[in-house]
Amino acid sequence: MTIQFANHIPIIQLNRQRCRLEQKIRQFEARLRARIDPDIDEADPGLTEQTVTLALLNNAREKLNSIDRALRQAQNGGYGRCETCGQRINPERLEIFPQAILCVACKSTLEAKFPRRLAA
Ligand SMILES: [Zn+2]
Repeated sequence: MTIQFANHIPIIQLNRQRCRLEQKIRQFEARLRARIDPDIDEADPGLTEQTVTLALLNNAREKLNSIDRALRQAQNGGYGRCETCGQRINPERLEIFPQAILCVACKSTLEAKFPRRLAA
């Protein structure tokens, strides 16, 4: 990305995280593909492993989505603002969680409505 940002935006951090997540997603997908077996038995421990891998894959995809949204926000100059209420997100929160696109209040509201839906 060649865009210049005047204020302190952890774009490099986000891009790095994005790279790592993409690698992970590819690994999980490969692991799932290798494990697909139509004759798999219910009691097969491989099935549990598959479920765990699938959960990890979904989790990584969700995270990647929120990173992409944060990066898009940054391109539009709206990085650090809550997507829902437009308030500035606490900088301390952004430092810990650079892909945050919601303020703490909106995130809590959303989580109460849709438990475990959002990673950011
Ligand atoms: Zn908000």
